[in-house]
Amino acid sequence: MAVNLITETLGAIRSAIAAFADRRRSRATKREFLALGRDECASILDIMGVTLDEFEEAMLLPYASEDMLSLAMLSIGIDPDSFKSQTMAKNRFMSRTCVTCAHRRRCHSHMAAFDFESHYLDFCPNRNNFAELLAKGQSC
Ligand code: SF4
Repeated sequence: MAVNLITETLGAIRSAIAAFADRRRSRATKREFLALGRDECASILDIMGVTLDEFEEAMLLPYASEDMLSLAMLSIGIDPDSFKSQTMAKNRFMSRTCVTCAHRRRCHSHMAAFDFESHYLDFCPNRNNFAELLAKGQSC
């Protein structure tokens, strides 16, 4: 019983530290992004299809500083740097979907466990876009 309590407490402390570190990384990323200047920021946000307000909100989501889209593509065997991947990402607002995604924590857990490819069809809002890219042979 006491061992369980200690284990749970340590787990809660680890989660709190991880959340704190994540928030710190997100704040740093936001500062660096805004330091690029108004025009550069506007141009990047335009490519992502995100307004500045949406960007500010997205930076409050878990793992906001991480490029989940590229990681997801790589996890399922899509080259994120290919012309077709980048064109579809822009045309279908895949980056926007990713940065505003409500499943970022779950997504990150699967990435950390290296089993994203076995589970993303259950929750990823970009799954149809990924399927199309895979069907077009945009593999790594
Ligand atoms: S689950 Fe969300 S964060 Fe993860 S790849 Fe899909 S859209 Fe992006």
